[in-house]
Amino acid sequence: MEDMNFSIELKCLFCDSVLKGDPEAELSSGDMVECQECRELNDYDALIDIASEEGKERVAEVAVSEIEKMLKKAFK
Ligand SMILES: [Zn+2]
Repeated sequence: MEDMNFSIELKCLFCDSVLKGDPEAELSSGDMVECQECRELNDYDALIDIASEEGKERVAEVAVSEIEKMLKKAFK
């Protein structure tokens, strides 16, 4: 059986480090995510755009549909 667990890494738009968000923090559309490396603020929507593109390549629709669900919730 293949392990369906995977994670999508959100990468800093400025320095390309993986952003390690607070697991307790709930990010939603419009939020800014501070990079621990360069201290730049990344636009969460842009990060999700990029992550969903990478998700499509890596694990196809599962990741994308999860992201879309998250985004739909965020817009409620
Ligand atoms: Zn950075």
